[in-house]
This record gives sequence, structure tokens and C-alpha cells, in this order.
Amino acid sequence: PAMLGMLGGGQLGRFFVIAAHEMGYKVTVLDPDQNSPAGKIADVHICAKYDDAAALKQIAETCQAITTEFENVPAATLKTLAQSVPVRPSADAVAIAQHRVSEKNFLKEAGLPVAPYAVIDAESDLPADDSEIYPAILKVARFGYDGKGQARVTNLSEAKAAFAAFSEEECVLEKMLKLDYEVSVVLARDVNGHVATFPTAENSHLNGILDVSIVPARGSDAVNHQAQKLAISVAEKLQYTGVLGVEFFVCDGELLVNEIAPRPHNSGHYTLDACITNQFEQQVRVMTGLPLGSSRQHSPAVMVNLLGDIWPNEAPQIEPAWQLVLGLPSLKMHLYGKAEARAGRKMGHFTVLSTSRDDAIKLAMQVRSELKVGE
Ligand code: ATP
Ligand code: MG
Ligand code: MG
Repeated sequence: PAMLGMLGGGQLGRFFVIAAHEMGYKVTVLDPDQNSPAGKIADVHICAKYDDAAALKQIAETCQAITTEFENVPAATLKTLAQSVPVRPSADAVAIAQHRVSEKNFLKEAGLPVAPYAVIDAESDLPADDSEIYPAILKVARFGYDGKGQARVTNLSEAKAAFAAFSEEECVLEKMLKLDYEVSVVLARDVNGHVATFPTAENSHLNGILDVSIVPARGSDAVNHQAQKLAISVAEKLQYTGVLGVEFFVCDGELLVNEIAPRPHNSGHYTLDACITNQFEQQVRVMTGLPLGSSRQHSPAVMVNLLGDIWPNEAPQIEPAWQLVLGLPSLKMHLYGKAEARAGRKMGHFTVLSTSRDDAIKLAMQVRSELKVGE
């Protein structure tokens, strides 16, 4: 069978490997970590850095198409690979999404609504105390995720201290908004420009990390629909091919684009159990030039992330309390095969399905507290 290439070996890559296997493909994973969740179940695991010339040569020569699950793969790597093999999404799209400055500028220039922000290259770019941007969040432009590389600041002197703490790396200073709630849209766009959009998810975060996704979101149909329209517009303006996640703030009933992820998204994990085609299968389909599957959701779903915090020891085995949880017929558990549990590390998730969204929320929240998530 044909071989597909995956850059990155985390849980998103692992679900991709599973989806690819189900569709009859083999997968080569490139990840520097010997024990990466995706590398462990791949047909071939190249254990090397993302700019290793021999590794790139091997993956380009043996794979039919290449994708990524990790937005910080150097865009130069994707460019090099694209000279000899289809790379989806493109290096250009990934380059925009992996740098907060180019991401914000792209969104603004595309006419998409974003929070007020300033680009901070040097300390002298930090706005004075009387600026309306405060209170604000200083976010490093590169390599941030799960709220890492972010600091809340209320004035210039705090902003200066935070900028210094980030070693004066290029940053975006963003106005701290009073959020009604947050939503996201995951979609797939194929090489012919066809788009399959998953339903709008309502997300809550804990310490900057996604905690719970409720799908469909409980907000108005108008907001849910508008989020989908904006997400499609992002994909079209990027001439995007692949699976894209778009995060939004809802503020005073209006949508603002928070950020985009050039890959399947954590808030789309419910699609594994609640949709006809899940987000990872869509990724396989786009890569290989197959038609997109239906993204229709067949039952309301609530997903809860499981972080390393809840494991009593380092070995992430299933604990006795889970006997109870796994006995629930409408709950689907997914563990990522990570060898070591650490605080804040995503170890797995579960999704509760029901005919009623309210029932799914109720049961998911019960299980969430049973497992002491977020305590
Ligand atoms: P991810 O893991 O989603 O890539 P990230 O590190 O890129 O996370 P952001 O999405 O920028 O972080 O922010 C994480 C969360 O912090 C947001 O989902 C939101 O809850 C909160 N947040 C970020 N920016 C703002 C803002 N300007 N105003 C209010 N809340 C914000
Ligand atoms: Mg991010
Ligand atoms: Mg985010």
C-alpha cells in the first residue's frame, strides 16, 4: 500500500495514523522523540529532527504525500519537501499560522475581525499607560501553545517586565477581552476547493488549556453559522488544502478570530465518535486526493480533556475509578499512549454522546468531577 508522511508524533499524529490505517495506507512518522505517541504505532518511525537532511530525503522519497500535526515544523522543511512531493497544507499556510504576527496581519488584511493588537519588536513598541489596549495579554510570536508564552499585563511597566522575561522575543500585545464564551470551527478543504465544515464547538479553557468542548455550541444559530462562514473565508483566503481549526472569541455577541491551527484541532476530537467522517480521516482524504467524507454529526457530544494532573503516579495506567467511567455505555475513552504523565500534559480525552445535548453535558460533567479533572 501507499505510504503517507506525517511530520510530528503527538496525539494528533497518532489519530492520523489510525485513520490512515483504516483507509489502507501505511504511515511514516518523523519525530525526534523515540517514544512519541504516533511514532510508536507508525509503520516507519524516523527518529530525527525536522531539519535533518537525510530524514527529509527518506520521507520525501518513500511517501506519496506529506502532512503535519505540529504547527511548529519549520516552514523551510515543508518548502523543501514540496519540491518533490505534495505537501498539504502548504508551507505558506503553515508559515502564516505558526507566527502570531503574520497570523494577525493576515487575518486583519483579509478583513476578518480580530481583537485589537500591537506588534512588539522592541521594548519601545510597548504602548504607554494611557493606551486603551490595557489590560492586555503579551503573547510570544512563535512556539506558544496551551497558553505557554503568555503573560497578562495591566500597564507599561508590567508589559516591560513580561517582554524582558520572554527574552525580548517578538511578541503580539493583545487587548484582554471580556469573553461571552469561545467557539471553534474545524473544516477540511480539498485540492479542488470543496469544503466540509464540522459543526461549531463551544469551548472552555482552564489555565489556557482546552478543557471541555460542547457540540453543537449552545449559542444562537446565527453565531454558530457566522463562525462557519468566517472559518470558510479564512480557508479560502489562504487557498488552504487540509484540515484547519479556527478559534473564535464571542464578545458582546460578535465573533472575533482568536487564532488558526493548520491541522486537526483538539476541539475536533469529538468527531472521532460523533461524526460520519472524523477530522483525521478528512486529513487523509485531502492528502491523497480522495473526495471529502460527510462531516455530519450524528449525535450531540461533549468532550473532556484528560491532563496528566489527574494521574496519581507517573505511569498512566487505567485507575480503579475508571472501571465506573468505562462502564457508562455512552462514553468513549481515548488514551494517547504517552509513557509519562505530567501536569498540564494532554494524556487522553473522553467524549459523551447522547440524543440530548443537555444530557450529554450533565453526564460529562459528572464524570469530569468523578475523575477530579481541574481540581
Ligand atoms: P492553543 O493551545 O489553543 O494553541 P495558545 O497558547 O495559542 O493556545 P491562545 O489561544 O492565544 O493560546 O489563548 C489561550 C486562551 O486564553 C484562549 O482560548 C482564551 O481563553 C484566553 N485568551 C487568549 N487571548 C485572550 C484575549 N485577548 N482576551 C481574553 N482571553 C484570551
Ligand atoms: Mg495557539
Ligand atoms: Mg488557542
